[in-house]
Amino acid sequence: MEIRAEAITKRFGEATVLADVDVHVHAGELVALLGPSGSGKTTLLRIFAGLEQPSAGRILLGGEDATQVPVQARGVGFMFQHYALFRHLTVAENIAYGLKVRPRASRPSNAAIRARVTELLDLVQLPGLERRYPAQLSGGQRQRVALARALAVDPKVLLLDEPFGALDAQVRRDLRRWLRDIHERTGHTTLFVTHDQDEALEIADRVAILDQGRLEQIGTPDEIYEHPATAFVAGFIGEAT
Ligand code: ADP
Repeated sequence: MEIRAEAITKRFGEATVLADVDVHVHAGELVALLGPSGSGKTTLLRIFAGLEQPSAGRILLGGEDATQVPVQARGVGFMFQHYALFRHLTVAENIAYGLKVRPRASRPSNAAIRARVTELLDLVQLPGLERRYPAQLSGGQRQRVALARALAVDPKVLLLDEPFGALDAQVRRDLRRWLRDIHERTGHTTLFVTHDQDEALEIADRVAILDQGRLEQIGTPDEIYEHPATAFVAGFIGEAT
């Protein structure tokens, strides 16, 4: 499902943290929101998710105006940095959470939920870890369980905030390739936030670059690398190794 931010402006008090931002993610595309810390990336993702209301502008999901649609009804799966796994629930219970809280009429049977959890653990390459608790997993494994949880409700759109945030460099590199691979298999429209140029350029179909709340450029990694639209983009991408 395609998603679109149209002329999004967001103010917190006196501060304008997003100014007239347009971003269009085509159905099945993987787009990175890239920019330095404080450029407005997480705020834009939260507005897409419905966790934050824009001061002006619209969010379109599948061509429909979703600006006023509450978060639970948007059909988006998201994974935010502070949105950690539930420590007192097993891996299986964490992944099944979004299915179990559904209204009775649309809740799958327990057997169907178990089958779905097994399928998702295979997809994120953690087969057999149903009964573990988060404390018994490595950081990379926890990130993958969090992604399985976001995928459990079969969202049409996946929103990921620094999905590999706090991990060491080697694990990040492995998870990048793995995310790209999952994306190719599931085909969810995906928007993910990163401040890491290499990460964005390596795995995204297109990259949207924000600076101080403004969209500087959106394009394929090649377009951005070969034809940076602004001095900021040239400098920022130039820092990539
Ligand atoms: P990024 O994800 O690019 O690091 P954020 O979207 O988190 O940037 O933040 C953009 C700016 O908005 C920052 O200056 C931040 O301090 C400010 N900001 C974010 N959330 C709030 C809030 N709830 N209240 C006030 N200011 C906020």
